Amino acid sequence: MKNYHLSPSQFREEGKKIIDWIADYYENIEKYPVLSQVEPGEVIEKLPNNPPQKAESFESIMKDMDEIIMPGITHWQSPNFYAYFPSNTSFPSILGDLVSSGLGVQGMIWATSPAATELETRVLDWLAEMMDMPEKFKSTSSGGGVIQDTASTSALTAVIAARERATKLESNKSGVRQKLVAYVSSQTHSSLEKAIKMAGIGSDNLRTIDVDATFAMRPDLLEEQIQGDKSNGFLPFFVCATIGTTSSNGMDPIRKIGEICNNQNCWLHVDAAMAGTAMLCPEFRHFKDGVELADSYCFNPHKWMFTNFDCDVFWVGNRSELINTFSILPEYLKNKATESGAVFDYRDWHVQLGRRFRALKLWFVIRQYGVEGLQYHIRKHVEMARDFARWVDASSDFELMVDPPLNLVCFRHKSDDEFNLKLMNAVNESGKAFFTHTKMNGRIALRMSIGQTHTEERHVKQTWELIQNTAKKLSLL
Ligand SMILES: *Cc1c(COP(=O)(O)O)cnc(C)c1O
Repeated sequence: MKNYHLSPSQFREEGKKIIDWIADYYENIEKYPVLSQVEPGEVIEKLPNNPPQKAESFESIMKDMDEIIMPGITHWQSPNFYAYFPSNTSFPSILGDLVSSGLGVQGMIWATSPAATELETRVLDWLAEMMDMPEKFKSTSSGGGVIQDTASTSALTAVIAARERATKLESNKSGVRQKLVAYVSSQTHSSLEKAIKMAGIGSDNLRTIDVDATFAMRPDLLEEQIQGDKSNGFLPFFVCATIGTTSSNGMDPIRKIGEICNNQNCWLHVDAAMAGTAMLCPEFRHFKDGVELADSYCFNPHKWMFTNFDCDVFWVGNRSELINTFSILPEYLKNKATESGAVFDYRDWHVQLGRRFRALKLWFVIRQYGVEGLQYHIRKHVEMARDFARWVDASSDFELMVDPPLNLVCFRHKSDDEFNLKLMNAVNESGKAFFTHTKMNGRIALRMSIGQTHTEERHVKQTWELIQNTAKKLSLL
């Protein structure tokens, strides 16, 4: 019978070439401009208007990959990528992801591939152990972990579970929901506001708590706001605390916030999307002090833990609350294993039904690096950030905005905002490095986020020189 499929032997041949292509890419990555230099519409113009009627060769696909796609790539895996937050990866992760694609498993429930569920359970228990998380987050206790696509989805999941707790699973009855109020800080990631909107809580019912000089939420103001809302007839139900805020890596005081939440019967979600990876190292764990008071916690191995996007770890202290919120059992998914109650069906732990076998890439990464290897590289990143901060502090033209708690340095040139933005754009347009900015206390701050897999001291040093030299040139203009 005629068919258009690639045979396994053709796949073997083409696949090996693509592995070589990826290895070449990493060997040459520093030759590309870090920030893509294309203009809007430049890539789409080079792509044919119509799809191919006839089958094309892999050779022609890869030729277009090199000529059309690569110029439009911003090189997130470049050692000179310091923008936003890292979204790093590593070879074991790439290979684990490839194996997952190869198996093409859809792990929505235990029965659709037992290993996909059980490996995920085990690996997330390992991670809880590796980060000294409270016992309740483990599957062997009352809670457990599940892999979500992003921290945004974890936030939505937490808000919805909290809503169901507060309304005793009756949130669909009228009159209950409009009284619910949630709390974040002025530095909390925007995904929380989005979650509050999506969960039907209403943006009006989201309170923003002010921060202190280190950009950490002020628990005294949180308590005051909760008391005020209660006396006005509202029902406080949810607080999000952050370990490592997006703008400046602010560290909310988890214990104090947790005590307030426990007293006030609020769900505490801890968002540690980027900084969470640092919990691999005992010397950084003071940032999570009090985490046993949290109901849920998430961090993204796809940011700083050498694991391909997407991979967010979401832990809860009480899995029944999650399952009671999200489980639904249509006839066509009924099966013995589910009915026995002896297995986890992860589709009951989140919004989506279908799910990829993402635990594989995590398993590959943890096994190939070992806990020691992961700790080594995280410590290196933090050391490099501290070196960079020292150089900034010692310079007469630049200043630190705040002492960097981990791997993000917020700094500025001592001249005005306009100059700082000009400086950033000039460095980025040079293609030699890419970094971004934020606003802190109303002023522009430059952000040097150090966490790419292959970033070494020499890269950070060269980038500091580039920033200084560019500033000198610009001030002579
Ligand atoms: C990056 C980040 C997010 C959003 O992450 P996604 O996984 O892309 O949704 C949320 N919170 C914090 C603190 C972050 O750093």
